[in-house]
Amino acid sequence: MDRIIEIENISFRYDEGEDGQAPEKALDGLSLSIERGSFVAVTGSNGSGKSTLAKHLNALLIPSEGRVLVDGMDTADEELIWEIRRRVGMVFQNPDNQLVSSVAEDDVAFGAENLGIPSAEIRERVDRALKAVGMYDQRKKGAHLLSGGQKQRIAIAGILAMGPECIVLDEPTAMLDPRGRADLMETLKALNADGKTIILITHFMEEAALADRMIVMDRGRLAMDGSPREVFKESERLKELRLELPFTIELASRLRAAGLDIPEDVLYEEELAKAICALK
Ligand code: ADP
Ligand code: MG
Repeated sequence: MDRIIEIENISFRYDEGEDGQAPEKALDGLSLSIERGSFVAVTGSNGSGKSTLAKHLNALLIPSEGRVLVDGMDTADEELIWEIRRRVGMVFQNPDNQLVSSVAEDDVAFGAENLGIPSAEIRERVDRALKAVGMYDQRKKGAHLLSGGQKQRIAIAGILAMGPECIVLDEPTAMLDPRGRADLMETLKALNADGKTIILITHFMEEAALADRMIVMDRGRLAMDGSPREVFKESERLKELRLELPFTIELASRLRAAGLDIPEDVLYEEELAKAICALK
């Protein structure tokens, strides 16, 4: 297995608060590796450590114990920080905080310019990135003319123009409407099909269900790790972890309770629709 990220037994504690009490560990002995080219969803209840984990993946935070390797580079090595950030790009929840220019394509160019890439190549990278997120036609628009979902796709294009291997997104759809969320998921699937490693932090179970692999965090530790189908089979465990089930699974279980013969492992809408159509 070709691993782009290896997390070896990391722990992390934020500085003590004003009350002087040592806080709980935000990450507590976490080990995890991410396969190159995979699409991984990370979920878990509020405060379980998802954002803290995300910030460890491109050296915004450094573990207090253990280590994080990105393409074999230790994030604690200050000399490697820019190389690591070039490989792993981060997209955050609020699209407005990530855009600064009055023209979308200038925002897309910003990160690549800071890497010192020659301007002819930047032009090429920006166009390619805008096309990859389906925003090429909107490239001249200012952020105030774009929807939340479009702004997030511009933010992703800005990361793409820097040429990362891996994109980490921390609840990028939290502020979007359903249409914006669906478009963003489609963009991420396309980027993944094109070879990018995608790590998507989300509390939407329907989004997590679209990943190859699903990780559930609890109190700074890994609580569950498997394919979405494997994870969603453990409905009791998910409830203990204060997570919801995708709507299709809830509906399927109600239909079963009402006496309909629906298979136990339906997860996606199409599967449920087929199962219903197949009823005698
Ligand atoms: P999640 O993203 O899953 O909601 P976080 O990684 O943000 O979880 O938080 C994990 C834990 O660390 C929580 O207990 C949270 O209160 C704490 N925490 C997060 N950010 C900070 C911070 N900047 N300072 C102090 N504590 C923090
Ligand atoms: Mg968070």
